[in-house]
Amino acid sequence: MSEVIVVGAGPAGLLLAGDLAEAGIAVTVLERRDGRMSNLSRAFAVHARTLEQLDARGLADRLVSTGTPLRSLRLFEHVEIDLGTLPSRFPYLLVTPQYNVEQLLLERALRAGAEIIHNAEVVGLSQDATGVTVATGVTVATADDTYRAAYVVGADGLHSAVRRLIGQPFPGKSVLKSIMLADVKVAEPPEEVLTANGVGDAFAFIAPFGDGYYRVFAWDRDHVVPDDEPVALEEVRDVTRRALGTDFGMYEARWMSRFHSDERQAPGYRVGRVFLAGDAAHVHSPAGGQGMNTGLQDAANLAWKLASVLHGAPDALLDTYQAERHPVGRSVLRSSGALVRAAVIGSTVGRALRGFAAGRALSVPRIRTKITGQLSGIGYTYPAPDGAHELVGTRARDIPLAGGGRLYEALRERRFVLVGAADVPDRLVKVVAPATAGGPLMLIRPDGYVGWAGADATGLRQALLTLVGDVHHQAAQ
Ligand SMILES: Cc1cc2nc3c(=O)[nH]c(=O)nc-3n(C[C@H](O)[C@H](O)[C@H](O)COP(=O)(O)OP(=O)(O)OC[C@H]3O[C@@H](n4cnc5c(N)ncnc54)[C@H](O)[C@@H]3O)c2cc1C
Repeated sequence: MSEVIVVGAGPAGLLLAGDLAEAGIAVTVLERRDGRMSNLSRAFAVHARTLEQLDARGLADRLVSTGTPLRSLRLFEHVEIDLGTLPSRFPYLLVTPQYNVEQLLLERALRAGAEIIHNAEVVGLSQDATGVTVATGVTVATADDTYRAAYVVGADGLHSAVRRLIGQPFPGKSVLKSIMLADVKVAEPPEEVLTANGVGDAFAFIAPFGDGYYRVFAWDRDHVVPDDEPVALEEVRDVTRRALGTDFGMYEARWMSRFHSDERQAPGYRVGRVFLAGDAAHVHSPAGGQGMNTGLQDAANLAWKLASVLHGAPDALLDTYQAERHPVGRSVLRSSGALVRAAVIGSTVGRALRGFAAGRALSVPRIRTKITGQLSGIGYTYPAPDGAHELVGTRARDIPLAGGGRLYEALRERRFVLVGAADVPDRLVKVVAPATAGGPLMLIRPDGYVGWAGADATGLRQALLTLVGDVHHQAAQ
C-alpha cells in the first residue's frame, strides 16, 4: 500500500511525488491522461523562487539551458521592472514551456521510485481514521480499481475531482472571457523577449517558446464569445496589430483556442487526510505567470510535511500547510487580478494614469522590493511561532559552505540541513558549516525556509521533534 496517493501528474503532482519518493515515502500518482506528453504548453514563465526550488533538487541548471532568461520586464509601455538585482542565483524570469518543467519533474519522480499510473481517473474518495480510499474508472458504480493510502493529495487541476469529492467549494469569478491563445511562427520577430500592451479595446502579448513558435494572447473587449467558438488566425492578427502596432507577420498556427480566466480559491486546503495543491486549490489570471509557480511552491511545502508526519512528527505539522500556503494563494490572486485589470484599461486617460502610478510605485525602493519579491516568489515569508527567532519562516539564502558548495546543493539530499555545529542524527539532518563563521544555528527545511534558528540545544531538540519527526525512533532504524 502506498503511503501517499497524488491525484494528477501536472507540475504540482510531479514535484510532490518526486519529493516524497526521494524522502523514502511510497507514493503512487494517479493520472487520467495516457502517458504521452503534450507540447501544447500553458505556462511559459518560471520565476526565481521556483528555480531555487528546482536548484535544491538538482534540476535548475538543466531547465535554464532550455529557456531564455529575462532580466527586466516592460509593463504598460514605459514601466520597467528590473529583475537583475534580485538577491537570488537566478535574477531573472525564465521563459520556457511548461512541458520542459514537467519532463524534468517526471524523470526525477520516476528515478526516485514514484509509481505513476496512467489512464486512471479518480471518481470516488472516502476517508476514515486510518486512511483514504480512492476509486478510479468512469463512475464510482463502475470503478475498476481502488487504491488506499494514509494521505491523498488532489493535484488534479482547475476542475479537481478531489476538491469536489471532499466537499470544498471553489468560490470566485471569471475575470476575463474569450482570451484568444495562439502558438504561431512569426516572419518579423519582436525586439523584446516579452512584449505586451493594451490600446483601446485590444490587448495582446507575445513571447517566444524557444522551439521556433511564439505564444500570443489576444483579447478584444468588443468581441467576447463562448470559449468553444473557433479562433481564426486573422482575428489574432487584427487584435495584435491594434494592441502592439504590428502582427509580426504571424503564420502557421499549430494551436489556437479561446479560454476564460478565473479567480478562485478553495477555503480549505486540508480536509482530514486529503489535501489540495496547485490549480486544484487556487486559480488566477495568467498575468504575471504565477499559476504553475505557485502550485510548485505548494507542492514543495506539503511534501516534506507529509514525509515528516509519516516519520513520526505530530499531525499538527500538516495544518501549517494551510496556514502557510493559503495566504500566499490569496496574495497571488489579488496581484495577478490587479495586473490583468490594469492591463486591459480601455481609456487613454486611464492608461496614462496606470503608467504614471506604476512608475511612481516602482521608484520607491521598498515598494519595488515588495513587487519584485512577490512576482519572483522570493519575497514570501511564512508565519513564525510566538517568540521564534526573526529568521524563522523566512526564505533561506543560498550561502556558501565551508569546504565548498552551497546551501541549496546541500538541500539536494532531501533532508533538513543544519547550518552550524550540533550533534543530530545524520540520517535525518545534514550538518553543514557556513563559509563565514558567526550567525545563529539554523535548521533549514527541505523547501528552503528557515524552520528554526537559535543557540540553545533544547530549542533545537524541540524543533527536530516537531518538524522532522521521531528522531530517536528513526535514528535507531
Ligand atoms: C493560457 C495559460 C497560460 C499560463 N501561463 C502561465 C505561466 O506563464 N506561468 C505559470 O506559472 N502558470 C501559468 N499558467 C497556469 C499553469 O498552466 C497552471 O497553473 C498549472 O498547469 C497548474 O499545475 P497543476 O499541476 O496544479 O495542474 P494541471 O497542470 O492542470 O495538472 C492536473 C493534472 O491532473 C490530471 N487530472 C485531472 N483530473 C483528474 C482525475 N479526476 N483523476 C486523475 N487525474 C486527473 C490532469 O490530466 C492533469 O494532468 C497558465 C495557464 C493558462 C491557461
